[in-house]
Amino acid sequence: MQRAAPQTFDRVLSSMCTQPHPAAREAASRFIATNPGDPATYQAVAALEEDALSYLGEITGLATPHGYVASGGTEANIQAIRAARNHARDDDPNVVAPESVHFSFQKAADVLDVELRIVPVDADYRANVAAVREAVDDHTILVAGVAGTTEFGRVDPIPALTEIAHDAGALMHVDAAWGGFILPFTDHEWSFAHAPIDSMTIDPHKYGQAVVPAGGLLFRDKEVVDALAVDTPYLESTSQATLTGTRSGAGVASAAAAMRELWPHGYREEYETQQANAEWLYQELVARGYDAVEPELPLVAARLPDAEFESLRDLGWRISRTASGELRVVCMPHVSRESLRAFLSDLDDVSSG
Ligand code: PLP
Repeated sequence: MQRAAPQTFDRVLSSMCTQPHPAAREAASRFIATNPGDPATYQAVAALEEDALSYLGEITGLATPHGYVASGGTEANIQAIRAARNHARDDDPNVVAPESVHFSFQKAADVLDVELRIVPVDADYRANVAAVREAVDDHTILVAGVAGTTEFGRVDPIPALTEIAHDAGALMHVDAAWGGFILPFTDHEWSFAHAPIDSMTIDPHKYGQAVVPAGGLLFRDKEVVDALAVDTPYLESTSQATLTGTRSGAGVASAAAAMRELWPHGYREEYETQQANAEWLYQELVARGYDAVEPELPLVAARLPDAEFESLRDLGWRISRTASGELRVVCMPHVSRESLRAFLSDLDDVSSG
């Protein structure tokens, strides 16, 4: 049998994952045979998970963070809703979220049997505050906002949404799965420091440059995390708040290592480089007459004729589209100006051909 070629990133413009930092890679291989799901047995990796949580707390403005390193943003979002549901004990619970919310919310609503109320976004792709206010009621257990949307890289008005959630007696969750490692270097109001939000998803395996799987789930209050805990009779530790049982020690160790190495200067540098790349690509697309969406974070969306999109894919570019059909280019740490130049040169060829 032939060995498959390793993943290369030269032409990957659609992914929210990236090449891990060398320190993250090295830590992952050292902890590959550990299970943070059983912290009393695997104590070294459990200590690294505490380190990872402290870093995540520092990055998001939370002095005493509760939570854990999850398998990714999907698990973190499911667990945030599960915690809210268990905490509220409502007989007919609903969650209110903007239409820009990641599809993991659909999975969460399905597995948890919670009604998902999707509300429209405004003309700039952010949650429409009035529509959220209309949608909440006495059975709302959680309002969600996104800080760095998957399709357009937008940041919802988190303080206003938090006020609506709390007025309705609901918890406020922020999905910063992708944006969490770059937003600290912007003026956006997105974190625990900007509003009394209750929980957050922030993924080291995206902009945090850890290996997959490493997601992050944070809570302000311990009692909300405790609503997730179940007894674990056969393990050395006695209760577990995670969704999965056995977890990846490689993911946890790599998250701690990446943050130790990169927070804050490395992440700032990466943000500045990629924001400049995104703004440059946007200008180049506009100069060519494409209808493009101005990037607020390092993600560019633009309308491209189907034939051009398909031809670029045929040339090996890994690109994807938004639900409304725009090309999206995510400027992750592996994306260089050189690769964007090569992409534009191919675009020029396919559009003139
Ligand atoms: N939330 C947001 C905003 C995302 O962009 C993504 C994935 O891109 C997720 C959640 C899901 O993360 P994962 O694929 O790690 O489960």
